[in-house]
Amino acid sequence: MIIRKRIWPRTLSDFFSMVFILTIVPLLYWFELWVVLPAIYEYPTLLYILHFSFGNFIMLNIVGNFTYTVFCDTSTRRDIMPISAANTKDGWRLCASCETLAPPRSWHCSICDVCILKRDHHCIFTGCCVGHYNHRYFIMFLLYLFIATMYSFYYNNFFIWNRIHFEFPMSIIKIVFPLAIFVFGFDGSIDQFYLLLYIVSTVGMLFTGVLCTYHICLILNGNVANESNKKIHMYDLGWKQNIKEVLGERWYLALLLPYVKSQLPHNGVVWDTLSSWQYTNSKTK
Ligand SMILES: [Zn+2]
Ligand SMILES: [Zn+2]
Repeated sequence: MIIRKRIWPRTLSDFFSMVFILTIVPLLYWFELWVVLPAIYEYPTLLYILHFSFGNFIMLNIVGNFTYTVFCDTSTRRDIMPISAANTKDGWRLCASCETLAPPRSWHCSICDVCILKRDHHCIFTGCCVGHYNHRYFIMFLLYLFIATMYSFYYNNFFIWNRIHFEFPMSIIKIVFPLAIFVFGFDGSIDQFYLLLYIVSTVGMLFTGVLCTYHICLILNGNVANESNKKIHMYDLGWKQNIKEVLGERWYLALLLPYVKSQLPHNGVVWDTLSSWQYTNSKTK
């Protein structure tokens, strides 16, 4: 993996979104595994150990995939192909901002100030662009966040409604507007803080659920967000191959851990359409 040089967020919205993620993820990890879990299963029963291990496995994936998304260089600055090989017929174009030729499917990001290979979008939570080489880590980061929040939601309901006594309409106000506790007063009980974490985690589940569905649909169609409004899916190689285009040849291992190598079929510069892909494959058989 080629490491990106300037990893710090470049805008205020990137900075605050990243700080939010770096604060809320460890906080929820602590809440779920050190507060909710011991309240539901007694230590050291088998179920406690199983949930504790699974929780840590999810956290490992969230941290690992987040780190790789942020650090991985997926820009055209990577030295993959000599510019002399560029041909406008193959979809190369001149990027006025970079003042150089950029390969097909690349797109200039004004925040990162560089062209990104197979650019999907600029992610404010990681403060960087998602493109060909970090697409795998981004989607796995998102997927594990969704799994984590869904898993938490199930157990949080047992935990929170055992502790909090529902009073109408104050409880509704506190649930809908978590920050209202600062207006109506923090009664000093830790339960109010737990309720806030419960709400943040539930909103997170809905948010990551929608994003996961959107991005997985794009991947299955062989698209990126920048290409999603085109009617013809030029780079759609069939859903199985489309998955490999993002997760690599060893996609089944990439699903489990970010630390395993999984070679991508294309280099981010030269692309296949369905006909050229079928032609290449028929020759190799
Ligand atoms: Zn550019
Ligand atoms: Zn960007």
